[in-house]
Amino acid sequence: MNTAVASVWDTLVGQGAVIDTLRQVAAGQGMSHAFLFVGPPGSGRSNAAVALAAALQCERQGCGTCHSCKTVLGGSHADVSVVRTQKLSIGVDEVRELVRNAALAPAGNRWQVLIVEDADRLTDQACNALLKSIEEPSARTVWILCAPTVEDVLQTIRSRCRLVSLATPSTADVAGFLARVDGVPEQLASYAARASQGHIGRARALARDEATRSRRTQVVGWPVRLTGLGPSMTAAAEIHAMATEEAEAITQELDAREKADLDASFGVVERGRRPREYAPALSALEKGQRTRAKRRVLDVVDRCLMDLVSVYRDAIVLAADARVELVNEELRGDLARLVRVTSPESNLARIEAIFTAREQMLEFNVPAALALESMMVSLRLPEGSRP
Ligand SMILES: [Zn+2]
Repeated sequence: MNTAVASVWDTLVGQGAVIDTLRQVAAGQGMSHAFLFVGPPGSGRSNAAVALAAALQCERQGCGTCHSCKTVLGGSHADVSVVRTQKLSIGVDEVRELVRNAALAPAGNRWQVLIVEDADRLTDQACNALLKSIEEPSARTVWILCAPTVEDVLQTIRSRCRLVSLATPSTADVAGFLARVDGVPEQLASYAARASQGHIGRARALARDEATRSRRTQVVGWPVRLTGLGPSMTAAAEIHAMATEEAEAITQELDAREKADLDASFGVVERGRRPREYAPALSALEKGQRTRAKRRVLDVVDRCLMDLVSVYRDAIVLAADARVELVNEELRGDLARLVRVTSPESNLARIEAIFTAREQMLEFNVPAALALESMMVSLRLPEGSRP
C-alpha cells in the first residue's frame, strides 16, 4: 500500500458504515471469534479484513503508523496468518495449517488472527476442518473469512460468524481515493472511477496503465461499429485475442515461480536428479496451471463483457435523459450516434445477449471464442444503418 496512508481504515473506499463498525470492534464492542466479510469483487473485502487485523493488534486501534500496524499491513506480523489463493479451491492441507496456528496463543499480548481471503473456494473437507476450529475457538483467536456473498459460504460456518457487508463504492468515492492515495490527476481519476464501476483494483489499473486504458477504449468502441457480420467476427476475434494475451501476461510469471518452487522442493536443481515422485507432482502442477490460465482468460473476457454492457446501458440512459452522467462519458458522441439508430428495447436485448454469452462460458463451458462470435452477431446494428 501507499505511504500516504494515515490510518488502517484509509485503504477502505466508500465504506463509512463498515469502518464505524470495525472501529467499535477494535475498541472492544461487538467482538466475535469469527467474522464473515462479504462484498462484490473490487469492494475491498480483503483490505477490510487486513485493516481489522491491524486494528486488533494495534495499541491505538489502527493508527496505521506503529510497528504492529505496519507489519500487519505488510504481511509479516507473527500473529496474523492469511490464506490467499490463485487456485480455484483451497484444500484441507492449507486450512489444517491455519487451524494449527489458531490453536496457538498469540506471540504478542493481543490476538491470533486468521484470514481466509476466498472462503467461497474452500473444499468441503477444508470447510469441515475449519468448522471445528470456529466452533471451539481459543480465547484469543479471531477468524476473518471473506467471500463475495453470504450464500457462498456453508450455512454451518456463516451461522457462527458476525457478518460485515461491504458496499460497492460510489464513483465519487473511488475518484477521491485515486486522487488522495495514488495522486492521480482529477480528470483521469474521474474517468477511471466511472469506467471501473466501483471496482477499486480495476480503477487503479485504469488510472496507472496506459495499455489497460487503450484496451478498454478498443472494447467500448465496438458497439457503434458493428454494422454487419464482418465487423462482428473481427470484434469477437479481437476481444478473444486480447483476453488471451492479457491472461498470459499475468500467469506466465506465476507459473514459472511455481515450477521453480516445485523443482527446489524436490532438489531437482541442485542435485540434478529427478526423484520418482517428481513426475506426478509436476503433471499435477501443470494441470492446475492450465485450469487457472483458462479461468484467467474467462475473467478478462468477462470484464470486457461488463464494459460492453456499460455502453448499451449508457445508450438507454442517454435516450431517456441527455443530462445524466454516463459511465462512458468520453464516448458521448459515439453514444448519441448509437441512440439514433437503435431503440432502448433493442439495446436491452443486446444486454441480454451479453449475459447469455457470459452464462454459456461460465456455466456451460462453451469455448469463449464461440460464445463471443454468436454474441457479437446479436449485437449487430440494424441492417443498412449508418451510425
Ligand atoms: Zn498502530
